[in-house]
Amino acid sequence: MKLLSVIVPCYNEEENVPFFYEEFIKNEAFFKEKEIEWELVYVDDGSKDGTALEAKKLHQKDGRVHLLSFSRNFGKEAAMYAGLNRAKGDYVVLMDADLQDPPSLLPEMLSYMEQGYDSVATRRVSRKGEPPIRSFFARMFYRLMKRISKTEIMDGARDYRMMTRQMVDAILEMKEYNRFTKGIFGWVGFQTKWLEYENVERKKGETKWNFWKLLLYSIEGITAFSTVPLSFAAVMGVLFCVLAFILILFIVIRTLIFGDPVSGWPSLVCIISLISGVQLFCLGIVGQYLAKTYMEVKKRPIYLLKEEV
Ligand code: UDP
Ligand code: MG
Repeated sequence: MKLLSVIVPCYNEEENVPFFYEEFIKNEAFFKEKEIEWELVYVDDGSKDGTALEAKKLHQKDGRVHLLSFSRNFGKEAAMYAGLNRAKGDYVVLMDADLQDPPSLLPEMLSYMEQGYDSVATRRVSRKGEPPIRSFFARMFYRLMKRISKTEIMDGARDYRMMTRQMVDAILEMKEYNRFTKGIFGWVGFQTKWLEYENVERKKGETKWNFWKLLLYSIEGITAFSTVPLSFAAVMGVLFCVLAFILILFIVIRTLIFGDPVSGWPSLVCIISLISGVQLFCLGIVGQYLAKTYMEVKKRPIYLLKEEV
């Protein structure tokens, strides 16, 4: 018998917790037939509502449901890491609590795993129901990442992914504090089968990600999986040196021919402002990497548990 661990990070999802269980259990007949045992691990990421309570109720009803509770909100990345750490299964799958990752895909995923794939990943081919601005920036982000990072990060990829024990162990080896799981999946490699599906809107409650949070998350992704922005600072430096050299030549020659050494005061101010702007921008890039390095060096735990059921 094989064991399937299902990890569900939850932050204020009290309505979705029982709902998810009901949808998930619809696959029971299939699991029986394939002789697959399962465990369902809800990771309560410091919810302020009854998420943990709902999960405990389910645990009393069905011993295969488990709960990990954090001492505060550590973010979805930490919740996924905790879940993977706790999972005992031969196969492990990560799923959102809001049913945007349809449990009806599980049988198909399992069949591919049995064919020998190390991982079955999913990606949305549409972003129906999402604000257009959000979709636009998301696309820009993936396009940028494709250019500046060697790690493959798929456009529209979800965290909904089934993996073998071996791949999970590889992911757990990556103990970085600033986590960007979409990149980590690509980084560890292994043979992956991609399934595509149309976007499904969340069942209950609201998304936990606003524009600002997503922007910070994208910076996380860039700094974690590319150092190209750092070289950008160097390239800008060289460009401006060349430009300055040409300007010096121009001014010296002009002064030698026409005299009048003090004209050009406004243009000087413009140039100084421009260059200080570029310098501060580049310093900011370096600062981003420094800040991430600082957090890594502290080696703080990725999450803290309050309770385990
Ligand atoms: N989530 C979490 N911690 C957080 C934010 C979100 O565990 O700090 C969970 C959330 O409960 C859900 C999943 O991550 O199960 C995806 O979140 P959401 O549906 O809000 O994101 P979206 O689908 O809009 O990208
Ligand atoms: Mg969602």
